[in-house]
Amino acid sequence: ILEVEHICKSFEGTEVLKDISFSLEKSQVLSIIGSSGSGKTTLLRCLNFLERPDGGIIKVNGETLFDAAQKSSTQEAEIRKKRLHFGLVFQSFNLFPQYTALENVMLAKELLEKEQPDYKVRKKEIHDEIEGQAVELLKDMGLADRMGNYPHQLSGGQCQRVAIARALALRPDILCFDEPTSALDPELTGEVLKVIKGLADQKMTMIIVTHEMAFARDVANQVVFMDNGFIVEQGTPDQVFGHTQEERTRQFLSRFN
Ligand code: ATP
Repeated sequence: ILEVEHICKSFEGTEVLKDISFSLEKSQVLSIIGSSGSGKTTLLRCLNFLERPDGGIIKVNGETLFDAAQKSSTQEAEIRKKRLHFGLVFQSFNLFPQYTALENVMLAKELLEKEQPDYKVRKKEIHDEIEGQAVELLKDMGLADRMGNYPHQLSGGQCQRVAIARALALRPDILCFDEPTSALDPELTGEVLKVIKGLADQKMTMIIVTHEMAFARDVANQVVFMDNGFIVEQGTPDQVFGHTQEERTRQFLSRFN
């Protein structure tokens, strides 16, 4: 479903991503692990078109979405369309504080539908449809009784589950998580990890940047270890965690034992 080839990215002369290549099959989960500053967030931001790589190619379902060698469109509408292949859940939820949980989940889809030519005539129908889908998603996230609440009335774990529902509302091909539990108290981490595990069981294709090593190992089909902008090691969870090949990976993992 995803092919990433030779992605490079520098900020002010400092190379943050160095020749990153990997691929991901549909319905598979990739965990990305690595120390702070190794480039994990930048990689997710490149995949979501929040940063433009300096070099490399990104393909989804065989279609080249980005090729640094080609002059690509900088048109906002074009980029937004490409971005729809990916959903992104941030560490800090990024919910709109002035909207309820339900409205947060509905918003992006409604904005998208507004661009459709028949929106004006079908407005009510479309709104009801989007609301119905959002209600179902929030129920799936265990938030049936929280839909009318504003983010400040929700716990961190609940906010993150709203953020996951919001990302799913746009039906992305690939759902990306950037340290989804880092901002949560330890007792709230479990409920979010459980939801992500549930999505994996439903065969959602996902890329998860996490510091939760046990979770990374348990949920993933494939693991990438990044250090200093490079992919140092990649393989199945058993290969990377159980039969580590590289000294740098071993050193990193020993911190969690
Ligand atoms: P963490 O686990 O702490 O989130 P990370 O592995 O996700 O770390 P990145 O956030 O991708 O790492 O950062 C990699 C490097 O790129 C860091 O040294 C960071 O300071 C730098 N960097 C990231 N974004 C920018 C930017 N917009 N401008 C300049 N430097 C940046």
